[in-house]
Amino acid sequence: MSKDEKTSVVSGFYKLSVKKRISFVKDFADLSGEDEKVFSSHLNIETADRMIENVLGTFEIPFGIAVNFVINGKDYLIPMATEESSVIAAASNAAKIARIKGGFKTEITDPLMIGQLQLLKVDDVVDAAKAIMDHKKQLLDLANAQDKILVSFGGGAKDLEVRILDSPLGKMIVTHLIVDVRDAMGANAVNTMCEALAPMIEELTGGHVRLKILSNLADKRIVKARAVFDKEKMGGESVVDAFLESYTLASIDPYRAATHNKGIMNGIDAVIIATGNDSRAIEAGAHAYAARNGQYTSLTTYHKDKNGDLVGEIELPMAVGIVGGAGNIHPKAILCKKILGIKSAQQLSEVVASLGLAQNFAAVFALSTVGIQKGHMGLHAKNIAVMAGATGKQIDKVAGQLIKEEKIKLDRAKEILKNI
Ligand code: NAD
Repeated sequence: MSKDEKTSVVSGFYKLSVKKRISFVKDFADLSGEDEKVFSSHLNIETADRMIENVLGTFEIPFGIAVNFVINGKDYLIPMATEESSVIAAASNAAKIARIKGGFKTEITDPLMIGQLQLLKVDDVVDAAKAIMDHKKQLLDLANAQDKILVSFGGGAKDLEVRILDSPLGKMIVTHLIVDVRDAMGANAVNTMCEALAPMIEELTGGHVRLKILSNLADKRIVKARAVFDKEKMGGESVVDAFLESYTLASIDPYRAATHNKGIMNGIDAVIIATGNDSRAIEAGAHAYAARNGQYTSLTTYHKDKNGDLVGEIELPMAVGIVGGAGNIHPKAILCKKILGIKSAQQLSEVVASLGLAQNFAAVFALSTVGIQKGHMGLHAKNIAVMAGATGKQIDKVAGQLIKEEKIKLDRAKEILKNI
């Protein structure tokens, strides 16, 4: 069976042993025996020592797979690296409901990043802005001379915009260099171009360039994902209505919107980390975009369609890469990209946005019905059992009793353990 025909639906995946789960993923993603070894490998200390400074060791977090996803008609298993329980189960559940009505559909812009050059100490900002724009072609050519590889892939500096800003220091000019970064996240590529342009901008204007760095508000690199969630599977139209009531608070209130968006990032960060991408860049872009109209709000929107089903949409900047950065160095990130079977940064963006929407749907759905704690309790009870000193089979016994008693407390876990 070709990979495109394989299904990401696996019932009871969570009940399988780790070995059997790996075997399913290996078959789904056509992994080799060498790939398989990476699941249980650790990041080589020499590699780690080259990635960051002052290395002491490596820091492990759990890595799992979200199942059931269909995105633009294609099945995906989504690798997620996270320390938070319930996140992967919730995403998989949401994907299962979304697939009833065809799964996730996405739209995407070109991968355009913005580099900023801050120009100070100019006598006449209007004249200086004109001088910059009059030399747009020369500036773009100079930028493109910095990255012939990017240009050879159809990317490179595409446009220039000039903004005049009032500040406590007086007026300043901020030049935006718009760069198509193709399959890269783009920070190094854009920063190198900005640094190269600074002397020419100073010469053209007589001013002084201070900052030369990309903006993480990547609002020209936007991805949207949409899914319809079946009302019957949700428990009927009254549950859809309850969901919309919960969502409405996130749309009007920053206190709720922050938590609502955190739920989105539970999924997004996990796949971003698993693929070796920069989670801080994605977080910064997402939250700045959520406040773009002056008030911080939800990154998702929801409404009911004429059948009474719930329609969910997400829209956010997505500066991810499949070349460059840590994603090309870390063996697990390389493996995760193989599991996803992605061919471009844009395809990865579509997966990330769909996962974010699924994660958000799952959280609001739980909050609107049984509450969020029920899903968290299973693993939480096991952690408490371990903290109480349980080992092996004792863990499930103690955790089971704690859940039965609806009292997940360390002192009670110790008592139960004593009586086993
Ligand atoms: P990079 O410089 O490692 O790789 C990008 C380069 O790869 C391109 O410039 C191009 O020359 C080459 N390339 C080869 N094939 C390509 C293709 N198909 N498409 C595009 N380019 C191709 O990485 P980067 O993406 O420029 O920078 C990402 C790194 O920068 C991340 O590790 C990030 O953490 C870091 N960073 C982020 C910030 C920030 O977000 N503010 C600031 C500085 C650094």
